[in-house]
Amino acid sequence: MTHLQNNLQDVHIHLEKGPYTAEWIEQFVREAVSKGIQEIWLLEHCYLFPEFVPMYDDLRRCSGFIDKWLRRKAGRRNLTEFLRLTEEIRGRTYPVKIRFGLEICYLEGKENFLFRQTESLGLDFLVGSIHFAGAFAFDHVPELWQGQDVDSIYRQYFRHAFSLADSGLFDGMAHPDSIGLFGHTPSYPLTGFYDILAGKLAARHMYAEQNSGVYRRCPETAHFGMQPELLSAMKKHGVPLLTASDAHCPEDVGDGIRKLAETL
Ligand SMILES: [Zn+2]
Ligand SMILES: [Zn+2]
Repeated sequence: MTHLQNNLQDVHIHLEKGPYTAEWIEQFVREAVSKGIQEIWLLEHCYLFPEFVPMYDDLRRCSGFIDKWLRRKAGRRNLTEFLRLTEEIRGRTYPVKIRFGLEICYLEGKENFLFRQTESLGLDFLVGSIHFAGAFAFDHVPELWQGQDVDSIYRQYFRHAFSLADSGLFDGMAHPDSIGLFGHTPSYPLTGFYDILAGKLAARHMYAEQNSGVYRRCPETAHFGMQPELLSAMKKHGVPLLTASDAHCPEDVGDGIRKLAETL
């Protein structure tokens, strides 16, 4: 599909560092306008809301690292307030189109829980992410990769990615090959995995993000957007590709979006 330069989108922007107020949203809007972006999709990590925290219990039991991280981060925000904000913003007019959603950690076996927690939220979109390979928090710090079996981590990552697509819970998949952020590669080619993943996303009519966030975090080791081979597989299967910054603050809205759009 073609994405015209005159319809720039940033479909992955986190609100988490500011209050649930129209003033906070307007900072994101101003940044988008200044960068010529017409549409922004605002979201939160699901673990910020207490309603989603029980989903991580098994992971916490398996990993002290994940438990400690969730103790710092999880359950800090109020879902009712978030939903109230979405209603308030929908009642106003802005120079950019705004959508609200959630970035959901997809965890195998938690599909029913996720379905129940999300079915009546009335959000515009749900994007699924793989942030853990089994109980391995692969995208936190590179030191955690020491001594890990890269080949089996990649196999596990793609197994999760396939189930994410098959689950039917999500409108799209975030940063589809973020597993490579610290520069690790398996000893075998990923072509077959890419093809299966793209086929599954297409079958579910899901979009995939062409996301600059991982590169912004790890410019030394991460690829800018998807690996070219994965991008080709997505295009071959006709998966809609949407540009995304993964901004966690207003200044990063639209980061790399034009360059990402050119790859599409
Ligand atoms: Zn993510
Ligand atoms: Zn994100």
